[in-house]
Amino acid sequence: KILSLIQCRLILFCSVQVNESNFKQEYPEFVKIVEVGPRDGLQNEKDIVPTRVKIQLIDMLSTTGLSVIEATSFVSSKWVPQMADHTDVLQGIQRVPHVRYPVLTPNMQGFQDAVAAGATEVAVFGSASETFSRKNINCSIAESMLRFEEVISAAKDRQIPVRGYVSCALGCPHEGHIEPTKVAEISKALYDMGCYEISLGDTIGVGTPSSMFKMLQKVMKDVPLSALAVHCHDTYGQALPNILTALQMGVSVVDSAVAGLGGCPYAQGSSGNVSTEDVLYMLHGMGIETGVNLDRLLEAGDFICNALGRRTNSKVAQARSGTL
Ligand SMILES: [Zn+2]
Repeated sequence: KILSLIQCRLILFCSVQVNESNFKQEYPEFVKIVEVGPRDGLQNEKDIVPTRVKIQLIDMLSTTGLSVIEATSFVSSKWVPQMADHTDVLQGIQRVPHVRYPVLTPNMQGFQDAVAAGATEVAVFGSASETFSRKNINCSIAESMLRFEEVISAAKDRQIPVRGYVSCALGCPHEGHIEPTKVAEISKALYDMGCYEISLGDTIGVGTPSSMFKMLQKVMKDVPLSALAVHCHDTYGQALPNILTALQMGVSVVDSAVAGLGGCPYAQGSSGNVSTEDVLYMLHGMGIETGVNLDRLLEAGDFICNALGRRTNSKVAQARSGTL
């Protein structure tokens, strides 16, 4: 009896040891955060945010240690009036060395305007859902791929890196379920065209760790893990578990927005992006480095929430300010 008790304790002791030593090894040591608040976040604001506010937000974010801040979008102001000041924003910010400021360029016109404004990195925005593509960028997936090919090849000529987005990767507001094979197909197409990184977007935040797992499993077969990023919205409160799942699978690039700004103007019921503050808190708590200073990020979040007259979506920011 005593022997079996000792054995039992030994097994217990050993299993705890194994779990503890495995915990950190399962995750990347460093995660790159791509801050999308100034573009993906503010794009959804109904009232036009003053250009100086956008510039100040980006300038504050530039001092946090972030290495990528998506600055604006060179879409037609007819479609997205909020981003009509893209040139003024890009030219007004204080660029910090080693920080990249990608801008969205949906077509050649946007790309040319972005280059004229001084863009040194661009992004194209594709979709894994046919209906979403038609409603969001007014063309079929196939047509959008032709446009992107043109943009990406022009960018290559100028040695401008291009990031690719795949929206609706875990579900579509119009079509519902999206097949992981479709996501893999679009991701591979963008990667093969020359995108250095593919950001897989749960645009409406409907995914769960299990759909994230299944989708990534398919995409990882076609695109190298080091070239994948996840972009989660917190509509159903699943963003952090979904990100954690992606990290466990080896993804080490995470998109997030300061104060959890945003949503998608074309996707009904889509709430904000996962907040950068909450992602940082989780990663740092797990001993994963990001190079980003959470306190400074919280200051930038305070600033933009005050400017917009709104409460932060970040749980960490709410907890820190005692407003929970
Ligand atoms: Zn987003």
